[in-house]
Amino acid sequence: MIRSTLPVLLALSSSLICAQTQVPQEVEAVYPDAHSLYLDLHEHPELSAHETQTAAKLAEQFRKAGYEVTEHVGGTGIVAILKNGAGPTIMLRTELDALPVEEKTGLPYASKVHTKDDRGQDVPVMHACGHDLHMAAIVGTAEVMAHSKSTWHGTLILIGQPAEETIGGAEGMIRDGLFTRFPKPDAAVALHVGNELPAGMVSITPGIYNTNSDSVRITIYGKGGHGASPHTTVDPIVIAARTILTLQTIVSREVKPGEMAVITVGQIHAGTKNNIIPDQAEMGLTVRTYRQDVRLQVIAAIKRIAKAEAAAAGAPREPAVEHYEGTDAVYNNPALAERLRAPLEAALGKSNVITAPPITPSEDFSFFVEQGVPGFYFSLGGADPQKFAEAKASGEHLPSNHSPLFAPDVDPALHTAIDAEVAVLRNLLQGSSEQFKKYGSTPQP
Ligand SMILES: [Zn+2]
Ligand SMILES: [Zn+2]
Repeated sequence: MIRSTLPVLLALSSSLICAQTQVPQEVEAVYPDAHSLYLDLHEHPELSAHETQTAAKLAEQFRKAGYEVTEHVGGTGIVAILKNGAGPTIMLRTELDALPVEEKTGLPYASKVHTKDDRGQDVPVMHACGHDLHMAAIVGTAEVMAHSKSTWHGTLILIGQPAEETIGGAEGMIRDGLFTRFPKPDAAVALHVGNELPAGMVSITPGIYNTNSDSVRITIYGKGGHGASPHTTVDPIVIAARTILTLQTIVSREVKPGEMAVITVGQIHAGTKNNIIPDQAEMGLTVRTYRQDVRLQVIAAIKRIAKAEAAAAGAPREPAVEHYEGTDAVYNNPALAERLRAPLEAALGKSNVITAPPITPSEDFSFFVEQGVPGFYFSLGGADPQKFAEAKASGEHLPSNHSPLFAPDVDPALHTAIDAEVAVLRNLLQGSSEQFKKYGSTPQP
């Protein structure tokens, strides 16, 4: 029974996907190899900064396709270059890493891998973010581009970046000379698969694509003592409780309505026993924002509130507020994003390219963009179109990236990824480098 028009529209759009996705012969030709690489990578995932076998597999494929390959750039990173005359230099990036997640998809090629993490603990490993699909796509794209050198000119740089999940791999490659030992790109491209869109579709987000992410640790100092004699102590647990509640007023009372900001206290540690008042409490926060001015406003408010709550309770010392990790939002130059809409529509069909609002997770692709390289980061549909339509109709959510159940609909998603990447690269690898000067890499205030 049809309960709303949405499922009909979705069913219609998925039949359109089938009708419109006349996958070009050049993509079909490379697909079997890309698909078997996908299965292999999925079954053999490696944790962040330990992607040695993964990187070696990619390096081998790029070499076979005729690229000049350099390994061990910023750890396990790889750089593959194909020169094809004068013209722009364009970079396409994939991540290499998987996550400490136990796969529960039940797929025949599900990962059963366990390994030791950096703390020496046994952990399961799974490509729960879909980076295996990005890698299979980039290898397929590498082959198509190598086979069709008359359709583009310039320098194509493909990179395999380690340690995206732990935020550090992009910076590591830059520090190891990504943009000095190798040609600096005029623009950089990446995509990410997810269940927010059905397979066969892509979405474009001109401007800010995702969030600034900041990790903040607050240590509140009190005065410990007997749980039965609170009057002789300054209880840091009570200060922490009040601080958490006051922190929740930053978004609701201080940030301008409509501006995006999230403050989550995801960790709180204090005390050892019910009848002991400890002398300190520690909290871990994640802060997400789109705009830089809102980011600075929120972090300043967190510091102000933490200090004021401690002072109000008569704490013997100001709390320590440490900003210990952060990555900036990925910025898509709007003019560059709009330029790439046409080639994507031509390749995938007009109805399979939509505009989407920014997302809340974070990503270290911003490190490349901040080196003055205009970026285009777009989203690739990964959901089985049928399941997507059913989930929309029932109001449920399909498993998100990082879920033990995350399983993209590989056939349509991987075909679309290769098709989309080739279309974008061919559009960018025309004319000269000069044309890219007009695309800024930072948002206008
Ligand atoms: Zn991820
Ligand atoms: Zn990811």
